[in-house]
Amino acid sequence: MVSRVIPVDPFDLVIFGGTGDLARRKILPALFRRFCSGQMEDESRIIGAARSDHTRDEFRQIVAEAIAEFNTSKDCETGTVEAFLERIDYVNVDAKGEDGWKDLSDLMIPGRVRAFYFSVAPSLFGPLAERLHAHGMADADSRIVVEKPFGRDLETARALNATLAQHFDESQIYRIDHYLGKETVQNLMAVRFGNMLFEPLWNSQYVDHIQITVAETVGVGGRGEYYDRSGAMRDMVQNHLMQLLCLIAMEPPAKFDPDAVRDEKLKVIRALDDVEPANIVRGQYGATKGAQDYAHDVENPRATSESFIAMRVNISNWRWAGTPFYLRTGKKLKARSSEIAVIFKETPHSIFGAEAGRHRNILTIRLQPNEGMDLDVTIKEPGPGGMRLIDVPLDMTFAEALGPDGEDVPDAYERLIMDVIRGNQTLFMRGDEVEAAWAWTDPIIEGWEARGDRPVSYDPGSSGPEDALVLIHRDGRRWREIRS
Ligand code: NAD
Repeated sequence: MVSRVIPVDPFDLVIFGGTGDLARRKILPALFRRFCSGQMEDESRIIGAARSDHTRDEFRQIVAEAIAEFNTSKDCETGTVEAFLERIDYVNVDAKGEDGWKDLSDLMIPGRVRAFYFSVAPSLFGPLAERLHAHGMADADSRIVVEKPFGRDLETARALNATLAQHFDESQIYRIDHYLGKETVQNLMAVRFGNMLFEPLWNSQYVDHIQITVAETVGVGGRGEYYDRSGAMRDMVQNHLMQLLCLIAMEPPAKFDPDAVRDEKLKVIRALDDVEPANIVRGQYGATKGAQDYAHDVENPRATSESFIAMRVNISNWRWAGTPFYLRTGKKLKARSSEIAVIFKETPHSIFGAEAGRHRNILTIRLQPNEGMDLDVTIKEPGPGGMRLIDVPLDMTFAEALGPDGEDVPDAYERLIMDVIRGNQTLFMRGDEVEAAWAWTDPIIEGWEARGDRPVSYDPGSSGPEDALVLIHRDGRRWREIRS
């Protein structure tokens, strides 16, 4: 069998914020797994850059501990960790000052691809871009990776885009949304545009409605202060759910190329209707015996931000007019589960009579857990007793479908970082996409603020507030059960 791992050219990856939580939990273990798989050439280097004063050996120790704690790869040869640590360097750099910048630029090897990963607070994105430019590191071989949040409204996102654009071309800016790196999300495009089966039905004539759910069981954890300033709308809907909605709803691009795909996504965002207050439900989780409520978790008794949101969204274009999209995301819900469900219409007429019941096809794209897809198909219930119909899922769980390698499906960060090195922006958000998403989000949030709307309470471990059930029941539909 031909190896599926295609090595990338030697590169330098500088991780600003290399000692931080995201770097330790996600970025460094992802790089280690790519190294294990043979995708990273031995000459490639990973340079941690942060304000903390560490020697190279101390940082290597931090990396070794991060791998020990967070790496999930099963089969790495003995000695791989040591070989990986050889690739690691560290520079003590202050994003807002001059310390360390000369050391960093001295380390750079001219002519090789270099990526600068901004895994730091958003207030440092601008200062980092400025200093990279000032110290001669913003040349044609450079690219920057920018973490979320990208602004907190249209104005701040525009300002950030403008600052980055002073120092880097749009083709060098990789705005990361790790949802786009998930195997299933890319498979969504493969299923839609690689098969004849689905696309002819992918419109309001055949699709009754679409549900996108991202449910978490955890609360706000240690991110209370940040979360209270964002809420689920800014933290999840404006970026992750919006990206999923775009991939589901977009027209087929003429080719699978970054701008062709992103042009189509942008058209979806621009076709979104304003959302009436009656079509949104916001919630905050309450307390349980052993756990505090949301307001305590975010340390703000008057918190008006939401830990849950459900909304009905309409897309005003020829393909989707008349097919609502129901979006739902929240914390402390009954299960950790993310999925997109495309619920098709019932057949126009049942030849089997009333006792056969009413059935519909549902295509479910599971993002987590058990990445994969199901297609519910109606068949005859086996055995004698007449024509009774049942719905059975055609299950494509990737871990099973792809054989032994499928069990080790690359994590989103692995794929996305390798795309940065290869210079492929397809799975990254373009500046105008982010701005369009904020332009749609801003009036909704401004409306809440102007009216003084407050989220309603919901029980931890539930499916969210009762009002969210009403939101969909009044349309004669029901939410899919949240289960892992
Ligand atoms: P963190 O606070 O754990 O780490 C911040 C890092 O920035 C540290 O390495 C620190 O040394 C460095 N730093 C701080 N001030 C600096 C300065 N002046 N100059 C140079 N380095 C400086 O933060 P985090 O949780 O790793 O998050 C980093 C970014 O990633 C943030 O933008 C966050 O919103 C985003 N993000 C984080 C997560 C997550 O799960 N942690 C998820 C999605 C996005």
